[in-house]
Amino acid sequence: MNKLTPVHELKGIGEKTEKLFLKLDIHTVGDLIQYYPRGYDVYEEPVLISEVVEGKVQTVTGAIFGRVQVSGNRSMQVTSLCLKDISGTLKVVWFRMPFLRNTLARGGVITLRGLVSRKKSGLVMEHPEIFYPSAKYEEKLHTMQPVYPLTSGLSNNTVMKAVRQALDSLPLERELLPETLRLSYQLAEYNYALRGIHFPEDKEVYFHARNRLVFEEFSQFVCSLRLLKEETDRARNDFHITPKPQVDAFIRELPYQLTGAQKRVWDEILTDMQKDFSMSRLVQGDVGSGKTVIALLALMTAALNGFQGALMAPTEVLAKQHYESITSMLEEHHIPIRTELLTGSMTAKEKREAYQRMGDGTAQIIIGTHALIQKKAGYKNLALVVTDEQHRFGVKQREMLAQKGQMPHILVMSATPIPRTLAIILYGDLDISVIDELPSDRLPIKNCVVDTNYRKTAYRFIEKQVAEGRQCYIICPMVEESEHLEVENVTDYAAMLQEELGEGIAVDFLHGKMKQAQKDEIMERFGSGKIQVLVSTTVIEVGINVPNATVMMVENAERFGLAQLHQLRGRVGRGKYQSYCIFMTGSHDEETKKRLDILNKSNDGFKIAAEDLKLRGPGDLFGIRQSGLMNFKLGDVFQDARLLQMASEAVSSPEAADSEWLKKMEKHAGNASVIL
Ligand code: ADP
Ligand code: MG
Repeated sequence: MNKLTPVHELKGIGEKTEKLFLKLDIHTVGDLIQYYPRGYDVYEEPVLISEVVEGKVQTVTGAIFGRVQVSGNRSMQVTSLCLKDISGTLKVVWFRMPFLRNTLARGGVITLRGLVSRKKSGLVMEHPEIFYPSAKYEEKLHTMQPVYPLTSGLSNNTVMKAVRQALDSLPLERELLPETLRLSYQLAEYNYALRGIHFPEDKEVYFHARNRLVFEEFSQFVCSLRLLKEETDRARNDFHITPKPQVDAFIRELPYQLTGAQKRVWDEILTDMQKDFSMSRLVQGDVGSGKTVIALLALMTAALNGFQGALMAPTEVLAKQHYESITSMLEEHHIPIRTELLTGSMTAKEKREAYQRMGDGTAQIIIGTHALIQKKAGYKNLALVVTDEQHRFGVKQREMLAQKGQMPHILVMSATPIPRTLAIILYGDLDISVIDELPSDRLPIKNCVVDTNYRKTAYRFIEKQVAEGRQCYIICPMVEESEHLEVENVTDYAAMLQEELGEGIAVDFLHGKMKQAQKDEIMERFGSGKIQVLVSTTVIEVGINVPNATVMMVENAERFGLAQLHQLRGRVGRGKYQSYCIFMTGSHDEETKKRLDILNKSNDGFKIAAEDLKLRGPGDLFGIRQSGLMNFKLGDVFQDARLLQMASEAVSSPEAADSEWLKKMEKHAGNASVIL
């Protein structure tokens, strides 16, 4: 067996299970061992009943107090009992397991491990795992079971077994990282790390394993950026772009003044574009800082110089939105530049016609998705490519572009709020412009963090906003792991809300499993105000701009990382109206409150990132704490800032030069694309 062996050759994986693995993009044994757990089930020391808190899986040991009862009807029998220790009592229930009564009726000391939640009657432990007699728990104490991201039909156990088999049958990998580097950074050996990330004996092992793998991931990222920068920089071109008076006129005629930061960044871009070498510049600016108009200025300048410019968005919804707003802005200002939309979901005929206009130069500004840099997309004279919002971009993509003629200027727009110090390590190899100022007409968003008792009040508030002509987003409670549930969840919620708000208010919903055309249609109707309240999963997160929307309500806010919540909040407060963000949480956990309070007090992405970092201790690695920025598998740029620093040093160190390790990193870097 080797890494390229298909997963169905593993014992116990038949055709059906293989299909499920394919859904998770796991084709080979190599893919499988890099499919890391999203968390661990840790069998901790039991706690006293008086110390039990809601919302967490906990273990308690005690005696069964009173009778074990079975109630409910035939289809839903509920077994309940009361557990008592020296500190108090706790209600415990199981569903559909009436036979437990006989087992448990014998009494004695028992250990239970399960999720505790708050019911009307108080705290209740639901459906716990039973250790009876109590001594059985000792065997499991402190062990960690991996918990994998799943798809419906695939059990955690199946993945666990498959991974174990793979790790046991694969030959060990050669350690490529030079010993001196490995020791000076105190990193674990690679094979140890791989096994340790899946099956850590304890937290200590897990931390070591994770550190090594994150280091690896970051090193590859740093290499990606280096490669991206190096070759772009060397690429000469003779576009001879010059500033155009029409662009200055356009800026003067805008309904608003560019902010100081926008002006400065535009200057930097214009200077780059006039050089004989291709630009590779990253524009970093918080949500709502006005990056789109800057992109448009650059695209216009390219077009007015007789070249083509392309704007690439991560989703079709965003591409359409950009296409429409840019086309109408150009029309309003009477600038005769022809725009074109190109997306994957267009019919073959539509695409052919678009390619035609791109190839003969009829299309001057082309806006679209990844379709823009696919093989079939030919250009007459492409001089500028702008990528917007969390777009994957890498050496492969850039090579694709280079093949389409001379190496175009590249501008990457990113809303990733990263503190300056971190940005220097991360993007040290790129040129960066920062838009660190929001338009002055913005009213700061008003925030509140509330518990679910406030839900009705929130709905009344939404009704009032809608009555004033505004629109609202509601991010639906998240259900982990199941696609099916995600859909059901959103539709159910929307139906419930429609009932609650009445027929007079148009409610609709959006989720990731919809067909593209459907999503487009919903977004279009929301954009034009026909939908007043939009219930959605986090697909709404990136880039959507509907300035008339003034309320963002997030259910289960405690389950999101702060960076993600900040992005979501960025969907409102984009116009002249006062906007509101309601973070609804089902948790009374102090820590959660503290975390959400950071958002409550600040609207500044950079500040939030820094505060979040302070709150998260290094021991805090499980569950949802990841900021989710930049799509690293394990690493988190904030939390692992130290490892990022190490990786960046290591890659340029003399010890690494010419090493097989660096070659491996560069090889992967060349194939991968990064999210900036
Ligand atoms: P983002 O940086 O998140 O991509 P956008 O470019 O979508 O933000 O801009 C958000 C909104 O702010 C848009 O409606 C845009 O027209 C508006 N806008 C951009 N620059 C300014 C400015 N200087 N003053 C006022 N409004 C602006
Ligand atoms: Mg944007």
